[in-house]
Amino acid sequence: MTDIIVIGAGPAGMTAAIYARRAAKTVLVLEAMSYGGQIINTPDVENYPVAAHISGFDFATRVYEQAKALGAEFRFEKAIELRDGGDLKTVVTPKGEYRARAVIIATGSKNRRLGVEGEDRLIGRGISYCATCDGAFFRKKRVAVVGGGNTALEDALYMADIAEKVYLIHRRDAFRGEEATAERLRARDNVEFVLNSQVTGLNAEKRLQSIEVTDKQGSTRVIEVSGLFVAVGRVPENQSFAGLVELDGAGYAVASENCRTKTAGVFVAGDNRVKEVRQLVTATADGAVAATEAVKYLNS
Ligand code: NAP
Repeated sequence: MTDIIVIGAGPAGMTAAIYARRAAKTVLVLEAMSYGGQIINTPDVENYPVAAHISGFDFATRVYEQAKALGAEFRFEKAIELRDGGDLKTVVTPKGEYRARAVIIATGSKNRRLGVEGEDRLIGRGISYCATCDGAFFRKKRVAVVGGGNTALEDALYMADIAEKVYLIHRRDAFRGEEATAERLRARDNVEFVLNSQVTGLNAEKRLQSIEVTDKQGSTRVIEVSGLFVAVGRVPENQSFAGLVELDGAGYAVASENCRTKTAGVFVAGDNRVKEVRQLVTATADGAVAATEAVKYLNS
């Protein structure tokens, strides 16, 4: 039995583990994939205090090593169920069951699909959700990036260094992402903005060959690209915990700033929580708050 199980080894979960260990609680972190979460796809983090530039992977690795050095245990298993037995919670994974007195859910979110016919079939055959992972396959080729948030803007900038040409397709004419990044994109002569437009078709034989893009007036244009990077936001990963945690209409866990949920001893931290600002710095802050609250709960 562990004092605290943290579900998810992204910045929120690993920060929670650090805080919980420093409060001398035993901690097990369960992670479905590899440590780091979404931030490992960011090539250059420029907005986290202290480090003017750090890659998301380096950031995650440092936090992971810090948590491990403090004695947090990590197991790479997906939490598929959470059961509340009052003072004792059970987290179920495909490999077994783990018990703890408190649980922090820091599962973050997964990539939202575009929802265009053929999308799933073409993943790995031209369609990608991670420019830093797959961008190198498109050296000197023509690619498109879809979305208007920070991820899309950063992916387009990243691809502008690698690809021959980058089309940035966004359904509005204003970006949700930071103006500073949009400005840097405007200065690149191999980036074309395709605004007020949506991807409505994918043309492929074995691999993606071109995309159909339809604007608000209904005119459709075919753009030849061999790569399409989809960056249209994220969907929270909370469904496995829906019984114990209230979810809003979009699936985000309802918790106040103290990260407490409707179930005593169950806390939520990071991007899967209802909040205004989803950034690295707010994720780590959530981890600190959730762990502090969990420690208070355990000591009360
Ligand atoms: P996001 O900010 O939610 O942006 C998603 C974008 O996709 C929006 O522009 C949205 O358009 C568009 N979109 C959504 N559904 C669509 C659809 N079906 N078809 C076409 N377009 C669609 O998501 P994100 O860029 O992944 O960022 C997630 C969070 O992480 C944000 O808070 C972001 O600031 C943060 N982030 C921060 C950094 C950083 O600080 N360096 C880096 C990456 C991400 P509308 O604008 O019209 O809604």
